[in-house]
Amino acid sequence: MNYALTDEQAMIQKMMKEFADEEVAPGAEQRDKEKRFPLEIFQKLAKLGIMGLPFPEEYGGGGADTISFAIAVEELSRACGSAGITYSAHVSLGGAPLYLFGTEEQKHKYLVPICTGESMGAFGLTEPNAGSDAGGTQTTATEQDGQWVINGSKCYITNASYAKHLALTAVTGKSDGKKEISAIIVPTDVEGFKVIDNYEKMGLHSSNTTELILDGVKVPEENLLGKRGDGFKQFLITLDGGRIGIGAMAVGIAQAAYDKALAYSKERKQFGSSLSKFQAIQFKLADMAMKIELARNMVYKAGWLKDQGKKFSKEAAMAKLYASEICMQICSEAVQIHGGYGYMRDYHVERYFRDAKLTEIGEGTSEIQRMVIAREIGC
Ligand SMILES: Cc1cc2nc3c(=O)[nH]c(=O)nc-3n(C[C@H](O)[C@H](O)[C@H](O)COP(=O)(O)OP(=O)(O)OC[C@H]3O[C@@H](n4cnc5c(N)ncnc54)[C@H](O)[C@@H]3O)c2cc1C
Repeated sequence: MNYALTDEQAMIQKMMKEFADEEVAPGAEQRDKEKRFPLEIFQKLAKLGIMGLPFPEEYGGGGADTISFAIAVEELSRACGSAGITYSAHVSLGGAPLYLFGTEEQKHKYLVPICTGESMGAFGLTEPNAGSDAGGTQTTATEQDGQWVINGSKCYITNASYAKHLALTAVTGKSDGKKEISAIIVPTDVEGFKVIDNYEKMGLHSSNTTELILDGVKVPEENLLGKRGDGFKQFLITLDGGRIGIGAMAVGIAQAAYDKALAYSKERKQFGSSLSKFQAIQFKLADMAMKIELARNMVYKAGWLKDQGKKFSKEAAMAKLYASEICMQICSEAVQIHGGYGYMRDYHVERYFRDAKLTEIGEGTSEIQRMVIAREIGC
């Protein structure tokens, strides 16, 4: 067993750390206040060849592995949770289904612009009445004269305002009395398609979260992604990979909160001594460091299993569940260590606290992760 990063992974980590510190962190607080999507950051990441990092070079990707992708998400999230979720969704929800299930033609037409950063990647699964129970999809796609006619709506879709196209799930019929769900690629500028960016969120204010309205949207038959009726299976596979991204996002936010809390505990004096000299504070910081170490190892292990072509559903669910829950705990403790200052915006930790909550909800809530793990261990 070797815990060291490969030369390539270490190089990506160094590059992403520098990029996150120099280009992403400085404006994060202001963007959060202004609720401004940092398009310029993703344009710069595109120039660095990061937007398609884990996809093969023949599609404009970086040919790197899943651990490198996790490192990139972690570093961006350490600087700004919004940048982290944007990038994670771009790759693992936008790019991955096209790469895994698309035809060669679809990959060249739709995956390449995602890898080059010409389009942000997005994936439309969740609906107002189908969240955890994503099989409850109500959006329909009917075949008419060689086209799919799609009607319905999606909610909470990341990146859609900046996507030129996205894959979404729709009911395409019934087989054996069950809903037949398929994934279809839809260009976002097609008639009848509306992207609404109007949510008032708790956090991740500079990420783009949208509602999609599909009113008689027509796309050619060949926009079907993979086989008809495979949509359910496809999104389960897509979410397995996505959980590595959200786990990495949680590790990044937790690391940022811990770093700020450790630094503050050394600066702040009460009762004639730095906070870091009080054992009660030391124990909090020691627990934070230990939990981050464990969560990071779990995320990297899930990534490693995926890269080895081994089963990784259980490990990805465990990594996402553990990382998101410790991220929430660590952000709460970081606010606590800052006292009243932590409750104020200028000290950053309240932003981490707000951003962290999403990691327990997106790409399967903590309850759903426990259901996945229970299934995997044979309950
Ligand atoms: C900022 C943000 C970005 C997002 N981005 C995307 C995106 O890009 N694409 C996309 O498709 N979706 C996206 N989502 C949606 C997200 O994946 C869902 O919100 C999530 O899966 C939960 O679904 P829900 O909100 O409908 O909650 P519900 O499913 O209604 O769940 C409500 C509560 O009930 C619990 N619950 C549900 N079923 C069970 C059960 N069987 N047993 C025990 N407890 C249960 C849940 O765990 C939760 O605590 C995003 C959400 C947010 C907030």
